[in-house]
Amino acid sequence: MQSLRTNIRRNTKFIIDHLSDQYIVRGNGKKNNPISSICMFCGSNKDLTREHVIPKWAFERKTDKFFLTTINGLPQTYNKTTIPACIKCNSVLLNEIEKHVLRIFSNHNIPDSYFSNEELEQVIRWIEILDYKLQVFSLSTKFRASKKNGHIPFLADHSISVLDPNIDYSPAKVISGLRSSLKRISIKSKSGQMNSLVIFKTRNKEFGFFHKNNDYLFLELPQKQVAVFYFFQKVFADVVEARDQALSIIKEQYKEGTAS
Ligand SMILES: [Zn+2]
Repeated sequence: MQSLRTNIRRNTKFIIDHLSDQYIVRGNGKKNNPISSICMFCGSNKDLTREHVIPKWAFERKTDKFFLTTINGLPQTYNKTTIPACIKCNSVLLNEIEKHVLRIFSNHNIPDSYFSNEELEQVIRWIEILDYKLQVFSLSTKFRASKKNGHIPFLADHSISVLDPNIDYSPAKVISGLRSSLKRISIKSKSGQMNSLVIFKTRNKEFGFFHKNNDYLFLELPQKQVAVFYFFQKVFADVVEARDQALSIIKEQYKEGTAS
């Protein structure tokens, strides 16, 4: 984790400039050069692999599992939802964090056992990385017309996140969102955020997921009988307060039918 943090701290500017140049300037009419890829964690352009935004084990490798992107309403399978990462960041650094989190979930029987602070911090780090990957993915995904809405050539040049009504269609906000997301990952201590992580026991059989950039993320992992809800910025006096807010957001999301 230390070298992932160091890589990110050293390369934040390079990665952000790259994303801005490739997906935002391009959307404004500059389309001469083909898209080039770099590792989204260290900036390297060598030995690139596809890092799954949502880890494969989480959606149980079912290739038909999908979520709906908010802008164009088209299904996107988790399996095809990837961002570029070099082989070292992907199979060594990120893999290590994921394995650690899986072990943490396997070792606990919720709600009877308690998570140590160190374990909670590890889960928070992992969720922060998910948020970043989701933001990169939506920035690098172009608007695709849906059959229902017809083809809109003007929008086809823009990335989904730039068109997101939640961020007022502002490229500057997309970039500052990415920057805050990377900044969070590069900070070691999560001690101020402990109450912002809620861990539930779940008996649902279906994988569940929803996310709002820089705001919150919900993930339900049936094979571990666990669901996590995390607030990226809000802090709470105690975890009960966070749990109540999380539950009301979950209820709202499932009522709207936007979560899958
Ligand atoms: Zn890398």
